[in-house]
Amino acid sequence: MAMDEFSLIRRYFNRLPRHASVLLGVGDDGALWRPTPGLDLAIAADMLLAERHFFADEDPAAIGHKALAVNLSDMAAMGAQPRAVTLCLALPHGDAAWLDGFAAGFWELADQYGIDLIGGDTTRGPLTIAIQVWGELLPGTALLRSGARCGDDIWISGRLGGAAVALQHRLGNISVPPSVFERCQERLLRPQPRVQLGLQLGAVASAAIDISDGLLSDLGHILQASQCGAEISYSAIALEAGLAELRNQPLVREAVLAGGDDYELCFTAPADKKQVIQQLAEQTGIVLSCIGSIRDEPGIIIKGESGEELHVGRTGYNHFAAENS
Ligand code: ADP
Ligand code: MG
Repeated sequence: MAMDEFSLIRRYFNRLPRHASVLLGVGDDGALWRPTPGLDLAIAADMLLAERHFFADEDPAAIGHKALAVNLSDMAAMGAQPRAVTLCLALPHGDAAWLDGFAAGFWELADQYGIDLIGGDTTRGPLTIAIQVWGELLPGTALLRSGARCGDDIWISGRLGGAAVALQHRLGNISVPPSVFERCQERLLRPQPRVQLGLQLGAVASAAIDISDGLLSDLGHILQASQCGAEISYSAIALEAGLAELRNQPLVREAVLAGGDDYELCFTAPADKKQVIQQLAEQTGIVLSCIGSIRDEPGIIIKGESGEELHVGRTGYNHFAAENS
């Protein structure tokens, strides 16, 4: 069944706000939001396009989840508490079956994190989802890319490689056993934003970023902003279950180091914070791995199991790089 624009917004996206800070939500020309006194706003946006960020025939619930998850992940990387989002949708048709799935995936995650949907825009066009997220944090506590210092440890949350291996498997470039694919595919379709971890890292991390384009590329952004370099150990990186035995296959290695889409956090912290961070791992139940350290010399050195230097063909996804145009 196809729906018109206004009944579509009413049916799927017009819910009463849960926070008193939202004075006015969906329904007028704009929303009204009263910021919590004394807190700063953190604002981020992320756009997902069919056939560029996801397959157009993907489960719509997964698309709804992921569109919100990648935005919450930016708040996690800033150390902010996400509060509200706007949702701009371009849809080829107002297909109720597709919207049922999309809205279910979106609201499930929004409910989990107490996020209000306060507005947006809906138009006909090639399937595109653009979300803007608004979060709050205490002044001076934001996790920036620019705070890494020589001698800091480099940490990652969770297990890497799953999302990229699933994508490469689907593209026919790599082949993994079905059970491994299932786990990896879950990472690709339903990334879990590390919001709670991000909120707790304020007290320990010197810099942070979420891994969306690939570890080397995203760590590279920290290094560039902090004007330093890094040495990391490939074997210190926790891998998605089932990938450990495949870790030395060149395409798996590339997926882990440069694949992206895992939405884990990469952060740096002074070496004397090791114990506190390990306690944080126990408290949160999230694997936190120290994978290397920051050095003065620019660039990233990747060490293999016996100390040899590893090289990968690419560092991460870049929309305007020659290979992707
Ligand atoms: P306008 O003509 O002023 O752009 P719209 O008719 O596009 O207003 O939208 C009406 C209301 O519905 C607005 O409050 C807008 O924020 C909200 N809205 C439109 N699309 C969405 C959406 N996809 N998700 C949430 N709110 C939406
Ligand atoms: Mg509009």
